Amino acid sequence: MNQKTGLKLRLKYPFSLDNRSGPAYLKIAVPESMTAGFTIRPGGFSNGSFASANMSFQVGDQYVKVGLNRQALLKGIGKDVFSALVTARQVHGNSCLTVTDRSPEKLLGLAQTGADALLTDQPGILLGVLTADCLPLIMVDRKRGAVAVVHAGWRGLEQSIGTVVVSELGRRFTVAVENLEVYAGPAIGRCCFQVGCEVVDRFRQHSVLAGVEGWWQERATGYYVDLLEIQRAQLLAVGVLEENFHAVDICTCCNDLCFSYRRDHAITGRQLAFVGIREKLIK
Ligand SMILES: [Zn+2]
Repeated sequence: MNQKTGLKLRLKYPFSLDNRSGPAYLKIAVPESMTAGFTIRPGGFSNGSFASANMSFQVGDQYVKVGLNRQALLKGIGKDVFSALVTARQVHGNSCLTVTDRSPEKLLGLAQTGADALLTDQPGILLGVLTADCLPLIMVDRKRGAVAVVHAGWRGLEQSIGTVVVSELGRRFTVAVENLEVYAGPAIGRCCFQVGCEVVDRFRQHSVLAGVEGWWQERATGYYVDLLEIQRAQLLAVGVLEENFHAVDICTCCNDLCFSYRRDHAITGRQLAFVGIREKLIK
């Protein structure tokens, strides 16, 4: 296991670093009945390009190492509560998967289902998305006891995945948007996310970005977009309260405590954004 001393991260509430055991993660201050966070690189068992807490089975890392990393995380956050981590096959779309059946065979099968957002209101189900530059989001409604985790790369954002999840949470679990807390994890920042001009042009069609400052920039080296600002603008436009949108604002490409697809030339591990309900709210 890697040394985990001297991690340099500037975090402020509601985020704090938990590196006591297993994969280090940015812990989110959610109600005690829930758990949520964003893993980073230190504290795992993987080697080489995947060192050390790679959480994805799909990137060429040794299966057994990824299994150990996932088990160590589960152990750290409460293996007695969450027996398995549920991830889907991420496809850069905007489809949502609602997970309410806790039977192991059902949960296992979901790994092959194409979806970029997972939702639940059931305790004991730990939901996750894997990223290495794309923006991970966690959504929590403490009143209704419903949660979601979202994989939002530029393609997902272009298909407004965040707002699709907000309406799905409303439809499935009667979540009121003004009660929704949104947490945005580490992603490639405006400093590093260079794109072709066609990407800027596609976002220009989005009326919610009209009048929003700084979501794109033209520099001597090319065009840059700011995934975090685009996501913030989209969610505020559908009623998420500004004070309920929380971002760690760490660039994966600038910070070597994170995996970065672009910086590491595509051969790298994945961070995990995770959220789960420990116990059912008594309504
Ligand atoms: Zn950067």
